[in-house]
Amino acid sequence: MTTTTDVDPLVARMRPFGTTIFAEMSALAVRTGAVNLGQGFPDTDGPPEMLAAAAEALRTGQNQYPPGPGIPALRAAVAAHQSRFWGLEYDPDGEIVVTAGATEAVAAAVLALCEPGDEVVCFEPYYDSYAASIALAGAVRRPVTLRPTDDGRYAFDPAALRAVFGPRTRLVLLNSPHNPTGKVFTPAELALVADLCREHDAYAVTDEVYEHLVYTDAESPHVPLATLPGMRERTLRISSAGKTFSCTGWKVGWASGPGALVSAVLRVKQFLTFVNASPLQPAVAVALALGDDYFDGFRADLQARRDQLVGGLTDAGFDVLATQGTYFVTADVTALGGRDGVDFCRSLPERCGVVAVPTQVFYDDVEAGRRLVRFAFCKRPEVLAEAVTRLRRLSAG
Ligand SMILES: *Cc1c(COP(=O)(O)O)cnc(C)c1O
Repeated sequence: MTTTTDVDPLVARMRPFGTTIFAEMSALAVRTGAVNLGQGFPDTDGPPEMLAAAAEALRTGQNQYPPGPGIPALRAAVAAHQSRFWGLEYDPDGEIVVTAGATEAVAAAVLALCEPGDEVVCFEPYYDSYAASIALAGAVRRPVTLRPTDDGRYAFDPAALRAVFGPRTRLVLLNSPHNPTGKVFTPAELALVADLCREHDAYAVTDEVYEHLVYTDAESPHVPLATLPGMRERTLRISSAGKTFSCTGWKVGWASGPGALVSAVLRVKQFLTFVNASPLQPAVAVALALGDDYFDGFRADLQARRDQLVGGLTDAGFDVLATQGTYFVTADVTALGGRDGVDFCRSLPERCGVVAVPTQVFYDDVEAGRRLVRFAFCKRPEVLAEAVTRLRRLSAG
């Protein structure tokens, strides 16, 4: 029995999770004055209609606890948005819950659905909160590795996916469009995931925060897993305002699914945060109802930034992998003499004044990601232009 202050008080299951790589790299960017393409947040504001609605809500007294599942106007807007873009119908009363970002929705889902020892299938590299949420639940992660292919994309071995499913599989955590790789799962890949979920009677929890960022040259459009046969009844579909409306600090997300799954999430959510962000909820409802011109313009804008950064990275000598969606592009550093992404990213600010993040920290199979690094392109064109100028120094010297 130790309660002294000289031992780490942190529970064992959280000890493998140190400070996130983003904190380390962002601190490095500040210290060195580097252009920070590490963390994935935009450096411009979202739609003015949304910001005005938030200010209005703040000024008109919408500052107390909202209803547990979220305000009716936001739940209605989330339902209408999914019907409009994906043909998915959810009842705003009982099939949608508003959360503190997609992060809370994922955590609450895993905590609500997994008994200790249950297995969660996910694809690595994974979003960093997944591993921590699975560990907090006492569940076990069963990653399947996405590997660069000869044509410069990422794919997984179908046999490897089959092999991680078993009698203890409780759910699949699927993120598409995928951070950090920029991969958009193809219809064939989704069909296999769906087949295995049905075969093993597993749930699917889908993280679709980049649902509006699939570029026009992607192999396939975004297809929510819940639209596949037999999947709506076993899928909890998660998204959030942060990425789509450039307001990552707002932390307004939601989960949609059959009533039993949503109610399970709500039971956990009520004791994590209870409720969240009352004045921001009506503003996100306004944003979700914006015209197609907003969503098309947003995607076209990010696609242009992607092309700008990919061009610069290629000129600088990086071996750039294709990115079909999200805010991110990954590159292999071998061609620039790099042998390890962590070492490469730690030295990059000094070498050329740019910050990136190594993606090996998002794999259990560290070797698979050893030489891969991620750059964010959700920045103003002039910031990307400066980054590209700086990156050229790598090939110059
Ligand atoms: C940014 C991001 C999130 C976090 O979303 P919040 O709404 O800010 O909690 C979740 N999943 C992925 C894949 C992300 O990139």
